[in-house]
Amino acid sequence: MNTNEIRVFCPATIANISCGFDVLGVALASVGDEMVVRKVTEEGIRITKLEGQDLPMETLENVAGVAGLAFLEKSDYQGGFEIEIYKKIKAGSGIGSSAASSTGAVWGMNELLGKPFSTLQLIKFAMEGERLASGVAHADNVAPALFGGFTLVRSYDPLDVVTIHSPAELYATVIHPQIEIKTSDSRKILKTNITLQDGIKQWGNVGGLVAGLFKEDYDLIGRSLVDHIIEPVRSILIPGFDEVKAAAIEAGALGCGISGSGPSIFAFSKGPEIANKVAAAMKEVYEKIGLDYDIHVSKINIEGVREGR
Ligand code: ADP
Repeated sequence: MNTNEIRVFCPATIANISCGFDVLGVALASVGDEMVVRKVTEEGIRITKLEGQDLPMETLENVAGVAGLAFLEKSDYQGGFEIEIYKKIKAGSGIGSSAASSTGAVWGMNELLGKPFSTLQLIKFAMEGERLASGVAHADNVAPALFGGFTLVRSYDPLDVVTIHSPAELYATVIHPQIEIKTSDSRKILKTNITLQDGIKQWGNVGGLVAGLFKEDYDLIGRSLVDHIIEPVRSILIPGFDEVKAAAIEAGALGCGISGSGPSIFAFSKGPEIANKVAAAMKEVYEKIGLDYDIHVSKINIEGVREGR
């Protein structure tokens, strides 16, 4: 076995999950990027291969490079790393494409050095990649990508991440209409103030969702998947959003909302049969509109980033 090199699978993630803007996220089992991280004597980080997407390979322009440099800055390791990235997740899709690369890089580096850093520290390094991608060092994609399952960022300062139980029968359906929305752009349209009334409704739902996940109470999960603050503003950027959401609920989904900053739309369902029905209903909307899409039906990934493909 070559201990200077590791192949990494890094899952796609759904952030926000309707009511939990910037704090809730979940990892997906069947979608993710692959990377190879290699220890080399030359200092610094080099992206030596990037397949599957047209993205910058310069260290300071690639989130894997930036996250890797944040890691090296705090490490006493004298050498450097080469990184190969095999993108399966489209950049700007809203399912944590940038987070997968940042997370995969720092996790792989940490494994090769004998795990000098904790998962919480790795989240902080990966957040620097998110700062490059979106202008904000948010943790709601990188936390579930590292821990797996559902995560709650209880506090950003100091960073406090809580892992949340994932009900066994919960499935996600995610449809990605083929338009690109940059996280940085979809942040610009958000209001910076909310009303107390909206706040009350929103934190009621965040509490309800977390309780529903722990209790495996699928009805409570469904009732709590409501976003009074972000979705009304952002959904305007996504063609057919209202129709897709209505079709998903009609097909039996527990709830439906924008994945991350969009344009992907996610729905949660109890069991694979309903999740597949929901997929068919969502597809039909985009077929009628005449918009191309990718669609995934996935179990929740409870393991997070791991070695392998
Ligand atoms: P997503 O929510 O799918 O991660 P973002 O808009 O947050 O989408 O991130 C995509 C942005 O990050 C794009 O501008 C892209 O050029 C940049 N980027 C830099 N390196 C990478 C990478 N390795 N993987 C994905 N995106 C990257």
